[in-house]
Amino acid sequence: MASRPISEGDYVLYWMQINRRLQYNFALEYAVAYANKTGKPLVILEGLACNYPWASQRTTAFILEGMAEHAAELPDVQSLTYIPFPEKEPGSYMRLVKDLCRNAAILISDEYPVFIMRERNQQLQEELDIPFHTIDANGIIPMALSEKAPYSAFVFRRMMQKNFLACWEQPPNAHPLKGLADHGSPGLPQEICSKQAAGFERLKSAERIASFTAGLKDLDQDIGPVSMTGTRKAGLERLDDFVGNDLLRYDDDRNDPDKERTSRLSPWLHFGKISSFEVVSKVFEMQPDGWDVSGVRPVNGKRSGFFGGHSAAESFLDEVITWRETGFHFAWHTPGYDQFDSLPNWARETLSDHADDHRDYVYSYEELAASKTHDPIWNAAQTQLRVEGRIHNYMRMLWGKKVLEWTPDPQTALAYLIDLNNYYAIDGRDPNSYSGIFWIFGRFDRAWGPERPIFGKIRYMSSESARKKIKLDNYLKRYSGTSIL
Ligand SMILES: Cc1cc2nc3c(=O)[nH]c(=O)nc-3n(C[C@H](O)[C@H](O)[C@H](O)COP(=O)(O)OP(=O)(O)OC[C@H]3O[C@@H](n4cnc5c(N)ncnc54)[C@H](O)[C@@H]3O)c2cc1C
Repeated sequence: MASRPISEGDYVLYWMQINRRLQYNFALEYAVAYANKTGKPLVILEGLACNYPWASQRTTAFILEGMAEHAAELPDVQSLTYIPFPEKEPGSYMRLVKDLCRNAAILISDEYPVFIMRERNQQLQEELDIPFHTIDANGIIPMALSEKAPYSAFVFRRMMQKNFLACWEQPPNAHPLKGLADHGSPGLPQEICSKQAAGFERLKSAERIASFTAGLKDLDQDIGPVSMTGTRKAGLERLDDFVGNDLLRYDDDRNDPDKERTSRLSPWLHFGKISSFEVVSKVFEMQPDGWDVSGVRPVNGKRSGFFGGHSAAESFLDEVITWRETGFHFAWHTPGYDQFDSLPNWARETLSDHADDHRDYVYSYEELAASKTHDPIWNAAQTQLRVEGRIHNYMRMLWGKKVLEWTPDPQTALAYLIDLNNYYAIDGRDPNSYSGIFWIFGRFDRAWGPERPIFGKIRYMSSESARKKIKLDNYLKRYSGTSIL
């Protein structure tokens, strides 16, 4: 569609869809630069639909807590209009986006490779008659830098090592709004001001958020809020706690669910409350005296030896940079990232060869969701997910592998895993939801022997060997007690 000239619009509109932060955000920085360049005020819209896929009270409450933090913080910033809008009626949020675009000079938003943002961005690109720019503020290596979908973490790591320094040396601005000049008011129509006022009202206290969320009939109300808070403040506190207390034992203890030494940052990374630039910077501060990032040199995709310094830091950086961003780059290049057919040929073939194998146990979605299987270890992992909205990574791998084993066929297993993960996990609906779930079926992995029933050449995991390898005593005590059910 032909673009209306930018000069005709009244304001620059930044639509914050997933990277929900005002700091270290390339998209917001770009919007501020555009506002200053064109001499127009900046409007930030941050909203939430009430009927998004896998909508639950849990996820909605987490997002609204973060929006309430922005609502409390933003009125003091000059020359800026913030419109928080958690919708009550389906469709009213997207109508507001389009109404705001009517008088905007340009729409700027978040580039995101999965979930409704990917579809919305593509659709709006075709519909709007103003320029629409999406900016990638998801990680350290921009998605546009990879030429095709990395089929393994090694392939991505090799590319990352070549490009890391150049990307690291151009970090996002810590406080982009500080650079916003005063370009007056956007002169918004009354009906938009009324929606803005309604949005502020819905977020004005924790009690109001709870009553608003409880009244939304399109949410799964049985999946209730968790103890994690969706604010940037809570995310930064988690980061400090992890780096200060657990980082240096990460490589030894990360696979031990009893020890809880992983960062537990994925919910805040998922909603963009904190940037991976901030996380990585904090980790660099812990490197030994004399270590300097400018000394890093590619080591041909090898896992150790690139960052150097503490081995625990290097191991954590491999997760938060290589593994996390492999998922973003893969999905960005793969429109069918959530389809069974996106699995590598060898994986589809071996799963299909074993699709009719006998299963000793077959469970329904409801039985799985309620932790009603014969296996106490699996039940504990599902209980952690159902009650706390997260699963320890090691348990998450085992959890996924067993669903493949206990469902009638791999396609059903995939559908169940996507639903369980995306309904219950706060970090669900992320590119790494699909990386993790499809890894269960062979993505980013290789063929393993011996060939086994149901799994074929797909990597196998069992609760018995997990129990031998790691103690799980505290984990089982914590998530098997009746009090938690
Ligand atoms: C079946 C299955 C489903 C998964 N679903 C999700 C999901 O919905 N959302 C999600 O963010 N991750 C998912 N993962 C990946 C991984 O389990 C989580 O990222 C990790 O457990 C989060 O805990 P943490 O923040 O303590 O991680 P840490 O170990 O502290 O790692 C730091 C960060 O690195 C990233 N990371 C760590 N491990 C992985 C990994 N294996 N793959 C990709 N990125 C990683 C995450 O952003 C994480 O927050 C899934 C894995 C599996 C096997």
